[in-house]
Amino acid sequence: MRAKLTAIQGPRWVAIACALLVIGTAESADNSVKQFSYKSTDIKAGLTLLSGAGGNIAVLQSDNGVLVVDNGLERNNEALQAALEQFDGRAKYVLNTHWHGDHTGGNRALSEQATILAHENVRLRLAGQDNDDADKSVADAFPDITYDDGITLHFGGQTVRVVHFPGGHTDGDSVVYFEPAHVVHLGDLMFADYFPYVDVDSGGSVTGYINNVAAIEAQLDDEHIVIPGHGQITDKQGVRRFHQMMIETTTAIAEMKSAGQSLQQIQQQGLGDKWQGWGDFFIDESRWISIVYNDL
Ligand SMILES: [Zn+2]
Repeated sequence: MRAKLTAIQGPRWVAIACALLVIGTAESADNSVKQFSYKSTDIKAGLTLLSGAGGNIAVLQSDNGVLVVDNGLERNNEALQAALEQFDGRAKYVLNTHWHGDHTGGNRALSEQATILAHENVRLRLAGQDNDDADKSVADAFPDITYDDGITLHFGGQTVRVVHFPGGHTDGDSVVYFEPAHVVHLGDLMFADYFPYVDVDSGGSVTGYINNVAAIEAQLDDEHIVIPGHGQITDKQGVRRFHQMMIETTTAIAEMKSAGQSLQQIQQQGLGDKWQGWGDFFIDESRWISIVYNDL
């Protein structure tokens, strides 16, 4: 997930800036405002979920340090370091499921101790993004090892199979399977019970996303524990629900579009009561309709 400030209209941007100023004042007037800290949830077989802000983070403990899948927003790096102290040993490997800053913001902080791995497009996109900022030592934040179709690590008693999926949420999406634990981290190819963000500017596509979710669903069985990029831990049923939502809503939007309805008309009409609550996170119903409408 990645917010795009460039898409925000002038007056709305001013309103948001004002709102932020108000929040800033409230925080400075009240010293008791709590620092963010990650919520830690045991999954199984040495796997732990760190959640609460940014993308969901999975940590796998071995006798020899930890492997970390995604690492949150850069502004939460202190909280990340604090959360990692509960584990034995240093972060040895870091996997990035894709390049967005709410999943890779900890790369720089972890790069001294860990080897960072990601799909080659993750490195390309991080490099393209950060090259605009000449003041930063940007190379620290890039993956050290990149792969094309995937890579397999043997760590903490698990076979950690990392598989690239083509153009879905972005063009550098990886899914991480932990076997034999039967746990899978889907990155942002899964927003559990929420409309997803599709980053078309980063090589994502609605159709590609749906195809990837269908392929993932087919690979899972009822025992799998599913870690989404955003939202609560779920299972194959959760992936099926998400897949079904994508099929039904995109079909409905496509039909309205081909019947000649404008984007605004479809947004006004909405998608119906069935999908109430799916817009309660980052992508509301209007934005989901516009993502689908513009990419079909
Ligand atoms: Zn993302």
